[in-house]
Amino acid sequence: MEKNITVLPGDGIGPEIIREAVKVLDRIGEKFGHSFHYTYVDIGGCSIDKYGVPITEEGMELCKSADSVLLGAVGGPKWDDCPAEIRPEKALLGVRKALGLFANLRPTRLFPQLADTSPLKREIVGDGIDLLIVRELTGGVYFGGHSTEEKDGELVATDIMPYSEHEIERIGRVAFETAMKRRKRLASVDKANVLDTSRLWRKVMHRLSEEYPEVEYSDVLVDNTAMQLIKNPTQFDVLVTENMFGDILSDEASMLTGSIGMMPSASLSEGTLGMYEPIHGSAPDIAGQNLANPLGTILSAAMMLRYSFDMAKEADVIEEAVNAVLDQGYRTGDILQEGCKKVSCSEMGDLVAAQIG
Ligand code: NAD
Repeated sequence: MEKNITVLPGDGIGPEIIREAVKVLDRIGEKFGHSFHYTYVDIGGCSIDKYGVPITEEGMELCKSADSVLLGAVGGPKWDDCPAEIRPEKALLGVRKALGLFANLRPTRLFPQLADTSPLKREIVGDGIDLLIVRELTGGVYFGGHSTEEKDGELVATDIMPYSEHEIERIGRVAFETAMKRRKRLASVDKANVLDTSRLWRKVMHRLSEEYPEVEYSDVLVDNTAMQLIKNPTQFDVLVTENMFGDILSDEASMLTGSIGMMPSASLSEGTLGMYEPIHGSAPDIAGQNLANPLGTILSAAMMLRYSFDMAKEADVIEEAVNAVLDQGYRTGDILQEGCKKVSCSEMGDLVAAQIG
């Protein structure tokens, strides 16, 4: 298969971790007979320095016309004082909007070998955590009306939280399809005891669950979910939720692993085009020193193969290679444990690529 990937290395450790993900993709290409063609585009601070904007219009077009987009990270202290309209993050929001990315997939995976890096006790994390949050990304209270007005001598602020049936149905479908590709369990998270948007959410999810009889479906209230993620995270497979609940719960879930450098993510559109990136930032404190953990980016590339290119076997091979390298005791500094071998960013990429065979 031939695929065109627009690559956005970005700032800080971005170029270092992207280099390792591309190394691993090339290895997959050789092994399985695929050709991945990369077009590199500046994004964030490096683009501000060169062009005065965090991404050029031409760069944005190259994202839209690609089969998929792979991103490193943007930002850093050098650009902290830029005016709001040209800040590095502005480019990310712009790409998300231009590509119509409405579904954010955030796996939380605690590899059993890294159980000691979790802030949770060993008896709670058991053989490792493997759950995935599907968050609606373009609706709800973040995109409803916002106003602050004076009433009866005091300020009153209002944020509106709209959701339409079609918005709920399309994210629900992504969640059921994702559950079908995993352990076939889906928990839908809402606040249906209070909110109308949640009652509509539940109604649409129940309707969809009839189309997916193989998926074991349940409703969970958001406050209970926040507790269960700490008390018994291994009960979950896929969780689906609206924008704000997903924002909060996915950050809570990411902390269960204790290692931000390991966490991938995917943002999907209605078609197969998606944007794939590690959840961490540009880590300016370790940039340019070959110290970063590239595994979150390598696992993001695996998600790209699985969700945009329908290459499940190839994605499995990358995930198994990461698992094997951890089993052999190799660690970057952020996940270093006693008795393990410390490796650099590029050595970690080499090890994963070599493991693919
Ligand atoms: P950060 O995620 O960059 O770093 C937080 C801590 O985690 C740092 O100590 C860093 O060294 C460490 N870390 C992060 N990724 C790592 C990796 N792969 N390997 C080893 N250690 C790693 O968060 P921050 O310091 O709050 O933000 C730095 C910059 O990144 C800011 O400009 C921020 O705006 C930006 N940022 C960008 C994104 C993005 O591009 N999606 C996301 C978050 C923050």
